[in-house]
Amino acid sequence: MSDPRIRCVEVKSPRGATVTHIRWGDGHVGVYPHHVLRGYCPCAGCQGHSGTISFIDCSGTQLELEEIEPVGNYALRLQWFDGHGSGLYSYPYLRDLCYCEHCRPKNEDKSPRARM
Ligand SMILES: [Zn+2]
Ligand SMILES: [Zn+2]
Repeated sequence: MSDPRIRCVEVKSPRGATVTHIRWGDGHVGVYPHHVLRGYCPCAGCQGHSGTISFIDCSGTQLELEEIEPVGNYALRLQWFDGHGSGLYSYPYLRDLCYCEHCRPKNEDKSPRARM
């Protein structure tokens, strides 16, 4: 994993926040609204086994993050306040999911997502 674009340097997710920020190895600061993170939860429980990732509307769900746990050197596991925590968000996946002003235009018309 030498590509700095998918090297996670710092995760900022204050308790109670509704947006998480991730600083990447190339200096880019990714913006991740929690409804986006939860909606794109890649776990089988949310996405089924079809192999495609699509946005799951989770309005009404508790969108507070309980814990963010690095997994190996390649992913973050997000534990939600409502107990859901089986989603492994790989760094390339997260990088692609960025909703900052710069990345967002390309992300807006990308749903449903066809790859992780
Ligand atoms: Zn899930
Ligand atoms: Zn971005």
